[in-house]
Amino acid sequence: MRRVTTFLCGLWLALSAAAEPAAQARVRSEEGTPRSAASRPDVPRPLVVVRSLGPVPAERLRAACRILLRTYPVRCEIRTGRDLFSAWSAWNLDRGQLDARAALELLFADRELDAVAELVVTGVDMYEVDKPYVFGLASLTDRIAMVSLSRIDNDGSARRDRRLNKLVLHEVGHAFGLHHHDAHDCVMRQDPTAASLDSAPNGPCEYCHAELSEQSARLARPNQAALDRTRGQLVRGQYDAARATLATLLEAGVFDTDLLRSFASAFFEAKQYNEAISVLRFVVKHNPNLAEAHVDLGLSYQMRGREGDLDLAIEHLDIAVGLRPDWEMIAEHLEAIRP
Ligand SMILES: [Zn+2]
Ligand SMILES: [Zn+2]
Repeated sequence: MRRVTTFLCGLWLALSAAAEPAAQARVRSEEGTPRSAASRPDVPRPLVVVRSLGPVPAERLRAACRILLRTYPVRCEIRTGRDLFSAWSAWNLDRGQLDARAALELLFADRELDAVAELVVTGVDMYEVDKPYVFGLASLTDRIAMVSLSRIDNDGSARRDRRLNKLVLHEVGHAFGLHHHDAHDCVMRQDPTAASLDSAPNGPCEYCHAELSEQSARLARPNQAALDRTRGQLVRGQYDAARATLATLLEAGVFDTDLLRSFASAFFEAKQYNEAISVLRFVVKHNPNLAEAHVDLGLSYQMRGREGDLDLAIEHLDIAVGLRPDWEMIAEHLEAIRP
């Protein structure tokens, strides 16, 4: 059986009685090395914004930008910093440290809207639950990375610069979707102590670099930051804000099919089926032969489950199977829901 390539395939698999194994995670040894986007001058570069939280020497911010520009295919800008007071609610008085996870949450609310990722550099010490301290923390979905200078900034400038280099590449790697990769030659490995950080490699392994470059090329598309923001709002239950972002986009006449399907996916995952359906109806109107979008729309109708929705679900799944007769899983699902 072929793997269904709609963004709802996870849901579809869950619905499917056929117990098809879930889509396999990418396997490093089988994937080979994707072509590096960094080597393609025509590929647009997404913007990373660097901001301070509390007092941070301007030179550290400039160094962070230089580090990113040297290694990753991104653009970088330093923007106005925040004072520590803006993160006071994430400050743990007893520990005298910043709760890094709570700080990330605050930073999301005050995120630069035009940047695909944001790197926040702070001079204060940070911790995460169950850890005495962390050098940095990042959100893979909100694309915000934090780095603390507090434990790396007092040990000689050469050593400090090397540590900053590794932390910036590691945390911004996360913000571009990279997970930990505990390989000796990869900056995405976990280095919880200053000693292990000192022995860490200076950059990502070839695989992670290629992965990041591919991500970077994808994330450079217009309106990616709006999509990420909408996802973040939906995850937090801020449905009105998410709808407003979507409305602005549609009013601006955005016709990027992949982007709109990603928006629909975000609303679908948040069980906001009305919006998923509106977007997908728009998509299939402009791309009537896009089988994946018909599957997505059919499943959205099925999940919404209002009167008449099942008929509409069947109608769109029928169209999808007509376009792609080789999609046996969809055909089977269709037969299972047909009254
Ligand atoms: Zn990490
Ligand atoms: Zn790696």
